[in-house]
Amino acid sequence: MTRTRFAPSPTGVLHLGSVRTALFCWLYAKHTQGQFILRIEDTDKERSTRENVDAILEGMTWLGMECDEGPLYQTDRLARYQEVADDWLKSGKAYRCYCTKEELEEMRNQQKAKGEKTRYNGHWRDLESNSSTKEYVLRFKNPLTGSVIVNDQVRGEVIFENAELDDLVIMRSDGSPTYNFAVVIDDVDMQITHVIRGDDHLNNTPRQINMYSALDAEPPTFAHLPMILGDDGTKLSKRHGAVDIRDYREAGFIPEALLNYLVRLGWSYGNQEVFSIEEMIKLFDLPDINQSASAFSGDKLLWLNQEHMMNTKAEILAPHLKYQMEKIEVDISQGPNLVEVIEAYRERAETFAQMAIACRYCYEDFTEIDPKAVKKQLRPVILEPMLALYSSLDELSDWSSEAISSCINSVAAKFDINMGKLGQPLRVAVTGSSASPSIDITLYLIGKARSIERLGRALEIIKERGALSS
Ligand code: GLU
Repeated sequence: MTRTRFAPSPTGVLHLGSVRTALFCWLYAKHTQGQFILRIEDTDKERSTRENVDAILEGMTWLGMECDEGPLYQTDRLARYQEVADDWLKSGKAYRCYCTKEELEEMRNQQKAKGEKTRYNGHWRDLESNSSTKEYVLRFKNPLTGSVIVNDQVRGEVIFENAELDDLVIMRSDGSPTYNFAVVIDDVDMQITHVIRGDDHLNNTPRQINMYSALDAEPPTFAHLPMILGDDGTKLSKRHGAVDIRDYREAGFIPEALLNYLVRLGWSYGNQEVFSIEEMIKLFDLPDINQSASAFSGDKLLWLNQEHMMNTKAEILAPHLKYQMEKIEVDISQGPNLVEVIEAYRERAETFAQMAIACRYCYEDFTEIDPKAVKKQLRPVILEPMLALYSSLDELSDWSSEAISSCINSVAAKFDINMGKLGQPLRVAVTGSSASPSIDITLYLIGKARSIERLGRALEIIKERGALSS
């Protein structure tokens, strides 16, 4: 059975790059009816925080990427890493290195001076110290000769010479394991079959493969994902806008759209751009991952968000609008049903944050009508038709969009003016602005009492303007 894992380090929050990695791992597990494991790599005690762990877990839950196992924490497995370290020390697969920081610094400087690649020179590889008090680290005895072939699913065959690799530290002097060591033990113990991760880890892979051999274990299949670049061509970073995935929630994006956006950063299926989660699961496969880096585009993300807002049942989307309405402190109990609002407003909004602001007047009164709209639309010439409209709407017992629409039509016909001439002042009167969904739906959603009251207020303004100009 396929087993993939997403293994974030809680030294930071969950950002777009790590979500893309998680998504590919999750999709591949789902696609192959395998399992997806979430492992928190928290051995770096100084830089890992509980807040970051929470941010990762919250983000994963919001995105709907449930794991089959986990979250597993590396800090719960310290005894296991120690056990392997002791075993390797005994069997000569690892050794104690007593080099001080200063000595390592000196080693590097000398290598630099000679124009050599800086690396640990293996000084303690075949030595043993009598000192039991001196601090030491454990280093892995990397093979000195031969080569390691990484058969990467994305990059193809990548060959590394052992002579290029130094003996890496596996246990720090404080007894904590390093990333490369813990990751191999975990992937073996957790029976991971596919390691899918960012290609910044490609250079670690030959070292890890050598450690699989030391454990007498078969290495998994590797797939290293191309980098995500910002719109300026540099590696995606904080400078390119929102970093924490939760910021996208706050900005009114929906998880399906974000995942759809991310799946296309490095993977393609013909020219198709819009995918539902089910389609992604069905179609995703490792050979279709592209080798080249892909660039982030905020505009495309917005476009996809709206596509998903349009294609998803309004009932399913309602919680997203509710979240945004609560955020701007609008009481949604005093107004139309969210599902109907979504159906009316989704063509006009790219995010739920935008929609919340756009439909706000359906739930609460606005304080002021946009002065430009007043000047342009609430003019004395429209007084008579607006008065007629006021009484006709006021008499309406069936407040449906159809009834509202025929009311407006008959008043327009009576005064021999076109619908727009009447609709626009009406819109300004009831919404305070000149943009809204079609006017009959807008009035329907605002409700009779509020519509009539606002229309009354607008009539006062028109009359005042009339008095001033006469
Ligand atoms: N903790 C590592 C990271 O966040 C995981 C790398 C891996 O998947 O092996 O980069």
